[in-house]
Amino acid sequence: MSRAITMYTAVGSHGTAHGIAGLQQRVDAAQTLPALFCDGEGCTAQVRFVPEHTRTGADRVPVTIPAGIQLEKDAEHAPTCRYNVPGRLDALLASTLDPALVHRLEDGRHELRLLPLHQDLKRGGGPALDAHLRTLNALLVLRAMCDDDALLDARVVLRLGKKRVAWDAFFYALDRYDAAWERVDAASNEIPLALSGTVRSHRAAQPGADFSTTFLNCAPKYQHTGIVDERVFVEVSVGHDDAAWLRSFPVGAQVVMLGLWRLGRTSTATRPHPTDPRRTITNVTYKLALRPVSKQQLVAVS
Ligand SMILES: [Zn+2]
Repeated sequence: MSRAITMYTAVGSHGTAHGIAGLQQRVDAAQTLPALFCDGEGCTAQVRFVPEHTRTGADRVPVTIPAGIQLEKDAEHAPTCRYNVPGRLDALLASTLDPALVHRLEDGRHELRLLPLHQDLKRGGGPALDAHLRTLNALLVLRAMCDDDALLDARVVLRLGKKRVAWDAFFYALDRYDAAWERVDAASNEIPLALSGTVRSHRAAQPGADFSTTFLNCAPKYQHTGIVDERVFVEVSVGHDDAAWLRSFPVGAQVVMLGLWRLGRTSTATRPHPTDPRRTITNVTYKLALRPVSKQQLVAVS
């Protein structure tokens, strides 16, 4: 089973707090990094900083992987540590979960039924939706802390009506925003999807605009297309009239967003190449947007 769990903060041996941005700056400035330890409750596991890097994606196109903090080989999180995700998942599944949503299967796994949630989302919210989402969010936060589906996949089966839904067709992290876009584009019906991301900005409506929506934008997926001077971005945003609520998820926060996603208008922009006047850079931006009907549709990962 994968034990790849990404952390976003750590402490040095003198108790100094370190975040991703500061550690990346040190790497960029070719400075030595301090020894780092997990900052979870009662945990002293040794961890290491993994700077932003590029990995070859499924279609052999390089994908930028954001910086993160990972457990050192042979280190283990303490049972009380928030990064003890398998332990937290066991405790969660052993607790009394919303019976309309979660059923225990004979093989010991649990089945999560997405249909009641889907129906409530389509109806536009209400107290039942909030309750369902709180149950689901607890699972999604744990999934978002893992680097892949392995842990959740081994213990929780997803079902939408009669159909089994694979975790990778329901949950999408940054490196798979393009797959989420394609899934929403291909779906004949609105389907609930969960996307995890890092808050990058909040954009208020322009003064004088005839709408009051504020957008919370996540760091986009950025990739080379294999075509010279063409780059593709996939942007993910959440729009809501309650700006203060969206701003309660500060820049840099890790979040999970769940709901019925819509595609925004794809835009293409060109600009001159910075050093070669004969060349033009083309940026193609695909957009995924969520308009929550419940404030439980956006949750911080912690
Ligand atoms: Zn820990």
